[in-house]
Amino acid sequence: MYILSDRNVTNLVSGFFFRYLSSRNDGYSMTIKKILDGMMDTMNSIKPPRITALQDLHDAETGPFSILIGTILSARTKDEMTTKTVKVLFSKYKNPKQLASAKVKDVEKIIKSIGFYHVKSKRIIEVAKIIHTKYKGKVPDDLDTLVQLPGVGRKTANCVLVYAYEKPAIPVDIHVHRISNRLGLVNTKNPEETEQELMKIIQKKYWLDINDTFVMYGQNICKPISPMCDVCKIKKSCKYYKTKNAS
Ligand code: SF4
Repeated sequence: MYILSDRNVTNLVSGFFFRYLSSRNDGYSMTIKKILDGMMDTMNSIKPPRITALQDLHDAETGPFSILIGTILSARTKDEMTTKTVKVLFSKYKNPKQLASAKVKDVEKIIKSIGFYHVKSKRIIEVAKIIHTKYKGKVPDDLDTLVQLPGVGRKTANCVLVYAYEKPAIPVDIHVHRISNRLGLVNTKNPEETEQELMKIIQKKYWLDINDTFVMYGQNICKPISPMCDVCKIKKSCKYYKTKNAS
């Protein structure tokens, strides 16, 4: 069973035409759709995964501003905690104007379960002020403008594009970076390089699903330490698995 968002349903309907990824690494050849389907099949065969914090906010239609703030808060924080905290925060401060005039110590009280909450409290108030004054309350929907915001790098900006505006982008966090390299899709040293390489080899129509599916897979199956390769349904095409079982 395929779970997830409406986007997956759209892709299932429209995804009959597969593009083969380049066979640059060890003769690797697998379609991105087969990778995404294989990941979902694996997860669903064990236990349907919990949706990610950003997908949760997207599905709840909380709006671009909450996705932006949620992405900033999500760094080094468990998904469950991010979702819960963002919902409480936005029940008190409903828009950029209200958050912009919040007191740091009041915001700290709400987000204290989040990692680095001192820094993040100041940062989200600062971002709210800019969104309110410079952009008249509307979160920008282009990468170049988003990365001008304090504390917003390419990953956060791409998350806003994908989860707030459904614009094709590939947010690369540690999970996307690790799994892409393990599979042999890329051979890169950091998330920025991974993003550039993935954009070259994956058709745009799949970009919206990469982050969400890879992050869930990284949290549940292809974990940083001791990945569950035995149950992984895409292991036959995985460079890491092949290398480990080569002898
Ligand atoms: S075979 Fe192992 S390392 Fe490769 S994608 Fe699957 S879980 Fe990750």
